[in-house]
Amino acid sequence: MRDSGGCSLREVNRTEKVDEQKLLHANYDFEHIGNGPGPGGWRMSPNGCFRCRDCEYMMSGDSSASDQCFCGHLFKDVEAGRIGCVDGDDAIGVYRVVPKVAP
Ligand SMILES: [Zn+2]
Repeated sequence: MRDSGGCSLREVNRTEKVDEQKLLHANYDFEHIGNGPGPGGWRMSPNGCFRCRDCEYMMSGDSSASDQCFCGHLFKDVEAGRIGCVDGDDAIGVYRVVPKVAP
């Protein structure tokens, strides 16, 4: 797990993001909860994930750092406390992150 010591998107290069995604998919499964914000708003939690339907980037629901997907369609603005997508909220898949059980 990375700690979010004031890292901004500009400091994180693409290779690092690709590696993070590989690690995420290697260690976790994703349970689809729905699309768009729920009744209580966005599920901003480290146990949650948001998926860009265009580039399939899985964005952590951790509310401590802003983020953006590979194609730029999906973004997280922690100061505003929201997730956004150029294609609309319904284009955002909301997932629960489940650690894979070791075989
Ligand atoms: Zn994307």
